[in-house]
Parts: sequence; structure tokens; C-alpha cells
Amino acid sequence: MQTEAVIEIRDLHKSYGALEVLKGVSLTARQGEVVSLIGSSGSGKSTLLRCANLLEDSQQGEILFKGEGVHWRGQGMARRPGDPKQVLRIRTNLSMVFQQFNLWSHMTILQNVMEAPLTVLGRDRKEVEAKARDYLAKVGIGDKADAWPAQLSGGQQQRAAIARALCMEPEALLFDEPTSALDPELEQEVVKVIKDLAAEGRTMLIVTHDMKMAADVSDRVVFLHQGLIEEEGTPDAVFGAPKSERLRGFLSATS
Ligand code: ADP
Ligand code: MG
Repeated sequence: MQTEAVIEIRDLHKSYGALEVLKGVSLTARQGEVVSLIGSSGSGKSTLLRCANLLEDSQQGEILFKGEGVHWRGQGMARRPGDPKQVLRIRTNLSMVFQQFNLWSHMTILQNVMEAPLTVLGRDRKEVEAKARDYLAKVGIGDKADAWPAQLSGGQQQRAAIARALCMEPEALLFDEPTSALDPELEQEVVKVIKDLAAEGRTMLIVTHDMKMAADVSDRVVFLHQGLIEEEGTPDAVFGAPKSERLRGFLSATS
């Protein structure tokens, strides 16, 4: 039986001015599914993630969170989500992890992890601190709680950013090139955390250039080309028997 769709995107169109970046993309991530998004630079991967968690407006198509459609107002370039409470609920349930970590430099690691559950969700400080310490331990940096971001390696900072996303206890995690800013040896510590999360059955949408990680962790791999899904399937199908000429070209260029 298929699990519930956590994120469902139907025929999404997104333009920046005259530039149409997403040209009708449909994508579903079900509970417990790991979906990787691959494709050349500029193909629209980050835009799709940002649209999914309503950081960007989109002009046409639907976005559903656990079956609940986003309420829009206006049309075309003027279309915006119309219900701020719904936006907050969806956004806090789809935690993003960015390529550049985006930790707050003026806060300790523990404060970074605690900030959003305290201020956005209004959770109890003691409970949040206990959870934050648990998540930091889980990603292997329990001893860095009182350090400043600048004192950590890139791999440690990214693991702190993952702990921060987890501390929101979201329905799904969205990763945008989580290992691209890291040296190869640091990349692996982050890949290991992502693998552990996949093994736990977390719902994840992962934009990545790391084909090995995508092959290892994904239930489904989606290849985006110039704002359209060109091919998708299991990692075995996409990496082992790519059908589209463009996908074959992309894979041979990245290997
Ligand atoms: P990817 O993540 O696959 O590299 P992006 O989603 O970042 O691709 O970008 C897709 C296209 O949209 C690119 O042509 C990029 O230049 C353009 N783009 C992205 N963000 C903006 C923006 N804020 N304003 C204008 N164009 C943008
Ligand atoms: Mg990108």
C-alpha cells in the first residue's frame, strides 16, 4: 500500500519575470520516501524546493501538503499564498537544509538549534533544549553545543544545520545540495547522517550532485532538465538503465 503523500506538486509553473524556470512539474514525496532531484545547474532544482516550501510564489499548478492544497489568491504573476497560518504550518513542517548551512553566526550551536522551536513554535524552553541536545548528539556533534558556528568545520556546521532542521520535528526534510560546499572528506560525514535519516524512514527531498549518495539513499530519482522532469524512476533504473539521451549525457558528464 502506498503511504500518504506529504508533498504533492501538480503541474507547477514558475517564472522570474519573462524567464520560465519551471514549466509544469509534478512531483510527489510520500511518507517515508526519499526522492532525489538531479539535473544540470540552472535546471530549476532549487527553485522547485523553494516553491515546495512556499519561499517562492508560483504562477500555476497546485502544491499540497498532506492532501491539503495551498490556498492561493490572485492569478498569474500576482498569485500568492492567501493564508499566512497555512503558509507557516507548511513551512515549519518542511525544514530546509541549505548548501551554505546558513547558521546564525551570533548564536551558539545550541542556540541555533533551539531558536525556531522556541520562537516560531513557542515550545517550552526546557523541552526544546533537551531535544536540541539529543539531535546534536544524533548527528555526532553533541560536544559542540556551546561552540560558535565559526569554530566548526564545514561538515560539523552542516550537521548542526541538520540538527536544527530536525528540532522542528517536521514532516519532511528538504535538502538543497547539502554536501556541495564541503571538501570530500567532510562530505562523507554529512552523507552518513543523511543515510541514517533515510534508514529511519524520514521523508526527504534531496537536491544533490552526489550521484553515489542519490543511488544509495533514494527510493526515487528525478532528473530535471530545463524546468521539466525528463525522466524519473528507481535509482537502478535512472542510473543503471537511463532511457533519455539527455539523462545519459548528464550522467556521463558527472561521473
Ligand atoms: P538549479 O538549482 O537547478 O541550479 P535554480 O532553480 O537555482 O537552478 O535556477 C533555475 C533558473 O532560474 C536559472 O536560470 C536561474 O538563473 C534562475 N533564477 C533562480 N533564482 C532566480 C531569481 N531569484 N531571479 C531570477 N532568476 C532566478
Ligand atoms: Mg540549485
